[in-house]
Amino acid sequence: MRIARFGDDRIGLVRDGRVLDVTDQLAARLPLGPYSLVRRLIADFAAARPLLEELAGEAEPMAWLPLDQVRLRVPVPDPTKIVAAPVNYRDHQAEMNEDFHIGALGFFLKSPSLLLDPGGTVRLPYSDRRFDHEAEFALVVGRRARHVTPAQALSHIFGYTGLMDITMRGGEGRSTRKSFDTFTPMGPWLVTANELGSPDDVGLELTVNGTLRQKANTQDLIWSAARFLAYASTVTVFEPGDVVTTGTPAGVAPVQDGDAVELVVDLVGVLAVDVTAEGAVPCPTDGAGRGPVPPPEPDSQG
Ligand code: MN
Repeated sequence: MRIARFGDDRIGLVRDGRVLDVTDQLAARLPLGPYSLVRRLIADFAAARPLLEELAGEAEPMAWLPLDQVRLRVPVPDPTKIVAAPVNYRDHQAEMNEDFHIGALGFFLKSPSLLLDPGGTVRLPYSDRRFDHEAEFALVVGRRARHVTPAQALSHIFGYTGLMDITMRGGEGRSTRKSFDTFTPMGPWLVTANELGSPDDVGLELTVNGTLRQKANTQDLIWSAARFLAYASTVTVFEPGDVVTTGTPAGVAPVQDGDAVELVVDLVGVLAVDVTAEGAVPCPTDGAGRGPVPPPEPDSQG
């Protein structure tokens, strides 16, 4: 099952390039709560699933709207946290000249308030710093998880989506460099765990203005999605709707004003955003030239 948010907090099922609005029926069925409707759906998915299957089976063909007629929104707007892997592919560890990977570094947090809708615009805040794309495969937690084992972790995953961990290079802390507003595009929708199958063999590709920059498969993750969630659950409890992003492979490179960035995650879909430097100002901190050394910028022809 593919579950999208669109328009003004509508929820839809996605199939064959079309979306079926199931918001009203879900809202009538799910318990009230101080969270987004999609988080309530995730938390109560076992109960809601038969309703969704029934709605999908019974809807008139005309009720399925073409996806290009709706504005997609970030699939979970209000996770309690976004947990991210710092160095989780060996080729990225090598290109960043990092001594350590996730097994020594642990995780970092990205602010949940900086999620960006599919089709949105990443706003570069500073005119004098390097900002890179990072293509990532992310999971969304379905059931509360605390101190779970890797084997248990899979049963706590609701589904998967694409995520870009946009990053300022330099010596400032990761929470600063990765938590600028708009720096976490996510989507285009959620694919449920049973629909996607194993998270350990999923291809992803990222292009900038049509030029391929990153290409990887999650089988090359140092810590798999399940192992990473299991580890992170020894630090903090995970709630339904929380986001865990698994890290980026080699090929990170700068994004600039006017760029069009596309992330394709196999079995999920295409997450596309634009980039602007409008309003950028000089950076107030002096971390440029410190920190992990990123790869040289590719020439414009890639
Ligand atoms: Mn990252």
